[in-house]
Amino acid sequence: MRCVICGRFSWQITCKACEKEFLIPRRTCRSAEGLEIIHFYRYDDIKPLLTTKHTPLGHRIFHRLAQLTAREFRIPFTALPVDHSVKSGYSHGAIIAKHLARHTRYNLLQARNDVRYSGKSLAFRRNNPRDFIYRGEGIESVVLVDDIYTTATTLLEAKKVLRAHGVSVPYAVTLAH
Ligand SMILES: [Zn+2]
Repeated sequence: MRCVICGRFSWQITCKACEKEFLIPRRTCRSAEGLEIIHFYRYDDIKPLLTTKHTPLGHRIFHRLAQLTAREFRIPFTALPVDHSVKSGYSHGAIIAKHLARHTRYNLLQARNDVRYSGKSLAFRRNNPRDFIYRGEGIESVVLVDDIYTTATTLLEAKKVLRAHGVSVPYAVTLAH
């Protein structure tokens, strides 16, 4: 196949040279309203790759970015990918969790509102919550996992619902910010 960045032949979706030049994950931690969020890429640095996310190619790109990130960082706790959509075919957060975490729980939180936040203001995001329902039992702690975060509205909403059910959230992990 060809590297999606430079077009040269490559075994992976991105070639070694491009990975070395553009895709070295850099672990960065930020706090949003008391939630620590670890991320590895700046959205603007790899925007052309991240905007493929709703295409078949995007699926493979997210796998590769998660593989590269897993060389740098592993989640030692149970991971919970955040679902964005009621009818989610597959979740990008689940791809990240698959590579980074040893244990992953799925579908503990179900969004009742599949509104899309892309390009929307913080006020819009806050006025249109995902409206998660918690479906877990006997779970003490999870690390929230998502592909990209912007304002952290979804992560904070998920954390709030989990906390209300006695589940602690030590931190969240996303690929990009
Ligand atoms: Zn390349």
